[in-house]
Amino acid sequence: MNYETVIGLEVHAELNTKTKIYCSCANEFGAEPNTKCCPICSGMPGVLPSLNEKVVESCVKAGLAMNCEITEYSKQDRKNYFYPDLPKAYQISQFDLPLCHDGYVDIYVNGETKRIGITRIHIEEDAGKLIHGLDGKESFADYNRCGVPLIEIVTEPDFRSPEEAHVFLETLRNILLFIGVSDCKMQEGSLRCDVNVSVRPEGQKKLGTRSEMKNVGTFKGAVKAMEFERDRQIAILEQGGTIQQETRRWDDAKGESVLLRSKEDAHDYRYFPEPDIMPIHIQAETVEEIRKTIPELPNEKFKRYMDEYGLSEYDASLIAFHIYFAEFFEKCIQEGGNPKAISNWCLGDISKILKQKEQEADAIPFAPKALVELTKLVEADKISNTSAKKVLDRMFETDKSPETLVEEMGLLQISDNSFLEGIVDEVMAENPDTPAQYKNGKTNVLGFLVGQVMKKSKGKANPQMVNPMIKERLEK
Ligand SMILES: [Zn+2]
Repeated sequence: MNYETVIGLEVHAELNTKTKIYCSCANEFGAEPNTKCCPICSGMPGVLPSLNEKVVESCVKAGLAMNCEITEYSKQDRKNYFYPDLPKAYQISQFDLPLCHDGYVDIYVNGETKRIGITRIHIEEDAGKLIHGLDGKESFADYNRCGVPLIEIVTEPDFRSPEEAHVFLETLRNILLFIGVSDCKMQEGSLRCDVNVSVRPEGQKKLGTRSEMKNVGTFKGAVKAMEFERDRQIAILEQGGTIQQETRRWDDAKGESVLLRSKEDAHDYRYFPEPDIMPIHIQAETVEEIRKTIPELPNEKFKRYMDEYGLSEYDASLIAFHIYFAEFFEKCIQEGGNPKAISNWCLGDISKILKQKEQEADAIPFAPKALVELTKLVEADKISNTSAKKVLDRMFETDKSPETLVEEMGLLQISDNSFLEGIVDEVMAENPDTPAQYKNGKTNVLGFLVGQVMKKSKGKANPQMVNPMIKERLEK
C-alpha cells in the first residue's frame, strides 16, 4: 500500500526586542547565567508583569507578512505546567484569541508554488534553560531566557513531504529576517520547531493519528525527524498495528525519536485568562501603520526578478528567497551590474565558495561594487571567464580590487593581433592535417585548435579573436 505523509509545524521564533516581554530586563543571548533577570521574569511572588508594546507590534508585523487577519480584541492566558526551567509554574501565552489568524505563505518547491495555511500566530514568553552537569548528578537553572518574547507560528497540516516543510522553514526564516523581527540564529536557539507527523493510506480523507516532536533545533534535524517518524509510523501500520497519539523527543545525535509522554490535550494545561494583564485592543489605524513598515517580501522579489531582470524562475527563486543573496544582488544592480551576469556569479562560483566555507551570503567579504567591476572586466574582454574565477577566489582572501588583482596575477587577456597570429601559426604548423579534416566535415577540429592556442597562451588569449583567425586558416 502507498501512504501519504501529512505534516504540520509549530515554529517558535524569539523576537529581537531590546527588552523582555513583561519586564525591562535586557533581551540578550550569551550573558553569564542569571545576570539578565529580575523578580518579574524569575517568578517571585507579588510582582506584576507589564506587556512590552514592541512585542505586539512585531507579532502583528509577522502576521501581516504572512497574510493573516489581525485580531482586534485579543488577550493573554496562563498555561499551567511544572518544569524546573519555569519558575512561575505557568507560562503566559495566548489560548483562544491569538493576535493573528488565518493567513498563508506561498512556498516555491520543485518548480511550483504551493500555498501553506497559517492557522495562527500568537505571543508568549520563553522559559529558562537547564544545564546538566557532565557527571549526570547535577543540573543548573539559568533564568536569563525566562521572559524572552516569542511568537509561535502554527501552520495547517498542509505539507505532504519533509521537503515541503523544509522549504517552508527556509522561507519563513527569510520572511522574519526581511521584516527584521527576529535574528533567527538557529545555533542560539532563536528559531525552534515542533513537528507534527501522521501518515494515511493514499486516497483516504481522514487524517491519521499524529505524533508530535518537540523543540527540534535545526532544519536538517527537522527533516531527519520527519523522515524517521514517517517511516516509523508506516512500519507500525504495515505490521497491522495502530499509531498512538504521543509526544516524542527528537534525538539528533542518535537520529531517532523516543517517547516522551503519551497524549496530551489543551485541557491538561488548565488555561485561563491572565488576570494581571489587560486585554489587547488593536485599532485598524495601528495595523495600517505597521503594514507600511513591511519591506518587499521574498515572493514579491521572486516575481520582480523574473519580470524586471529576466531571470529564470529557478534562479530568481534561489536569490529572492535568501535574504543575504537578495540584498547583495540588489546592491550589485544599483552599482550598475548586469542582472543576469550577477545572478550567474552569485549562484555559481560565489555559492560554491560559501558552501565550502559553510557560510551564508552575509559573509561575502567584498563589496557588491567589486563584483560588478569583475563582471565588467569580463564583458570588456579584458580577462577570460577562467581568469575571472581565479580573481574571485582571491577576492575572498584580500580586499584588493579586481583590477589590481588582474594586474598582479598577470591575467590581462591578450588581444594583440600580431602576437596572437604568431601563436596561431605555431599551432597550425603542429597540426598540418587539420585543414583537410575540416574540409571533410570534421568541424570540431576548430574547437580543438582554439583550445591549443589557449593552452599555449596560458589561458590569456582572447578566444573571440582566436576563433576567426583559425577559421580563416582552415578554410584557406
Ligand atoms: Zn526581568
